[in-house]
Amino acid sequence: MPAPLRLYNTLSRTIEPVDPIEPGQLRIYVCGMTVYDHCHVGHARAMIVYDTLVRYLRHRGWTVTFVRNFTDIDDKIIQRAAAEGTTPEEVAERFIDSFHRDMDGLGLVRPDMEPRVSGTIDEIVAMIGRILDAGHAYVNQGTVWFDVASYPEYGALSGQRPDELRSDDPDKGKRHSADFALWKAARPDEPSWPSPWGSGRPGWHIECSAMCAATLGQEIDIHGGGLDLVFPHHENEIAQSQCSHGGQRFVRHWMHNGLLTAGAGTKAGGRAHRDAEAEQVDQKMGKSKNNAFVIHQALELVPAEAIRLYYLQTHYRSPLPWSDDSLLESLAMLARLYEAREQAEQMGGSEPLPKVVEAIGAEARTVVELARALPERIDRAMDEDFNTAMALGHAFELARAINRLGNQKQARRRGGPIAAEALAALSYLGPTLGLLQQGTEAFHDEVATKRLAALGLSREAVQSLVDDRQHARQQKDWAKADALRGQLEQMNISLMDTPKGPVWRVKL
Ligand SMILES: [Zn+2]
Repeated sequence: MPAPLRLYNTLSRTIEPVDPIEPGQLRIYVCGMTVYDHCHVGHARAMIVYDTLVRYLRHRGWTVTFVRNFTDIDDKIIQRAAAEGTTPEEVAERFIDSFHRDMDGLGLVRPDMEPRVSGTIDEIVAMIGRILDAGHAYVNQGTVWFDVASYPEYGALSGQRPDELRSDDPDKGKRHSADFALWKAARPDEPSWPSPWGSGRPGWHIECSAMCAATLGQEIDIHGGGLDLVFPHHENEIAQSQCSHGGQRFVRHWMHNGLLTAGAGTKAGGRAHRDAEAEQVDQKMGKSKNNAFVIHQALELVPAEAIRLYYLQTHYRSPLPWSDDSLLESLAMLARLYEAREQAEQMGGSEPLPKVVEAIGAEARTVVELARALPERIDRAMDEDFNTAMALGHAFELARAINRLGNQKQARRRGGPIAAEALAALSYLGPTLGLLQQGTEAFHDEVATKRLAALGLSREAVQSLVDDRQHARQQKDWAKADALRGQLEQMNISLMDTPKGPVWRVKL
């Protein structure tokens, strides 16, 4: 039996045990991208949160079926195609490719299924038919509207009641301002498909209801997405799915990640306040000329794990502040974890553990205790509402203890058995959080390549200054050696003299 997991449920507004439909199995659906542009750092939060969730659940023994869709029929795709003089299919295909490249570059697991709206039209038409038959929708001039007034439970997820949404001037031929389109009558020069109500295309919300049912069945365990999707998208998904399946429950657990916010975080406030801010950031990121906001450019600046760490250092439900320095700050944090592992890797000696701990004292004991406790502390944090921030806090506590220990000469010489405990603990960050998965040299090499490129420096130029300094030292020309070190410092390069010769790193 897999380990029990508790998660906040947006529907009940409490943290509840995840109670699977089938023991040991979880069917998870997450709303995916509308493929009309490249994926930016705002989108990537959901991708990384649910990737980490799925990775962790599998590690804990759950059998997970993970589905994430592509919205490949949408106004924005049609508009972009028209502006570029190409077809919506070509635009969608191009940005699905781009998305896959980005997600692979971030090291994310591919979902088990990635349904597309264009491949789910038959199921969508059938579902709309069932909603009409059940008396929850009406047709007006080829457009099918969901009749919100016919479904008293509408608003349970978001707390938005239909009466509050009533407007005096219902437009487009709908009866109630809260009614939403299940099927849109065809417009000239737009893609359309045949249906019993005339040709047209699906509304946005119905696609996820239909793709959930087509891939995972009428009821699923966890439905995820960004907080901005609670209303109206997920509220509408519930209405459609439950009304087309005789009232059967659609989702057991609703999980929503918070959004990226501009600048130094938000002072909480209501959801509307957060949404307004999030929208601002979303627009800024979507339209920004600063390409660092786009994932493939972010991957040119820092290793994928630094991007991952940026998202996981904050609880998934909290707003996450974004600034131009976010990725470099996360890289510096990540480097501290790699440095701790490197310290441990370099500790020598093979005396019995108790003897070494006795000889070195309190700092050695602390590392052993924190190392042995780490896997369980990570599990406890993750099993209680998926608290990656707390899990990382535990990992950094161990990293700091290793670095303190590594400052002792005796520990470097004899600390090997302590280091073995620390290394075993740090390796637990891979299957749970997706961190520390590179070799030490590979990590430093990737950081150097990406940071040098960002600083406009070449590896050869740095190496030649390092070689010149080494030569000066051999000639005992200390003044010249110091001057060269100073020059490297100015270029943001730090230099360490090791028994194997000088080692240089780009400062973070
Ligand atoms: Zn959706």
